[in-house]
Amino acid sequence: MTLYEQLVVELTNRSFSLQAAYRNGSTPYELSDREPEPYDQQIDDFARMIEEVDCVLVGGASGLSAAGGGDFYYEDNATYRRHFGKFAERYGFKGAFEGSFYRWPTAEARWGYLATFLDTTLNAPLREPYKDLDAILAKKDFFVLTTNQDTQFMKIYPWEKVAEIQGDHRFFQCSRCCTDDVWDATEPVSRMIEAMGDGLEVPTELVPRCPHCGEEAFPWVRGYGNFLQGKLYEEQYRKVSDWLDAHAQQRILFLELGVGRMTPAFIQEPFWALTAQLPQAATSP
Ligand SMILES: [Zn+2]
Repeated sequence: MTLYEQLVVELTNRSFSLQAAYRNGSTPYELSDREPEPYDQQIDDFARMIEEVDCVLVGGASGLSAAGGGDFYYEDNATYRRHFGKFAERYGFKGAFEGSFYRWPTAEARWGYLATFLDTTLNAPLREPYKDLDAILAKKDFFVLTTNQDTQFMKIYPWEKVAEIQGDHRFFQCSRCCTDDVWDATEPVSRMIEAMGDGLEVPTELVPRCPHCGEEAFPWVRGYGNFLQGKLYEEQYRKVSDWLDAHAQQRILFLELGVGRMTPAFIQEPFWALTAQLPQAATSP
């Protein structure tokens, strides 16, 4: 097991006992009673840190996309209505995730929704916060670790610079995990969207199926209970662990962006643990 995955596993197991605090919107950690610096001061500190460090490990999570208009996952808002309006009217969903967890009566109906979901993220433009981040990192040695599945980072950076540890909407896996293969989802999604038109369901022959066993396919993402943790998954952890190995003695800035309290063991807690362990590491203000 690679270094970063081991850290995540340890922190996940440990935080079972700490989850109650997170679930209440609180934290299991004792917080300092020091007042936060004024916002302008925090920006200045951050700019100085970016100048001074040798390299940056970015931990990018959902807030980064939400701040740039990817805010349709949990809310019934204008963005949600624009992309999912016909489903909101028919089923009363309030946000994209509600439909993802719905018990669909048929595969054709399920894929009408899932194809819409995947099409929405795959065809979203690069969002502003990612452009800003790219400008900030322009002259730095950096690596990105992300829990986002919406492929925003993949729209600007090459495969070797990003670890997507919760999956990626561009791939399908077997829903039964009969094989370690994942395969392209983008073509089948386009075909489903085109065939569906204004309707709510896809034709039976377009329901994506595993080429090995014929069972239904599923997007290669965590969150539905059957996330394939095979070769591609291990590769994500290998990328970030190799980067950390190569930079461990340098001045690393651990930069948390848009990380919430839902899954603290993937970015936030490992970043804190690594900052404490590595000789010249710092976290962003
Ligand atoms: Zn299969």
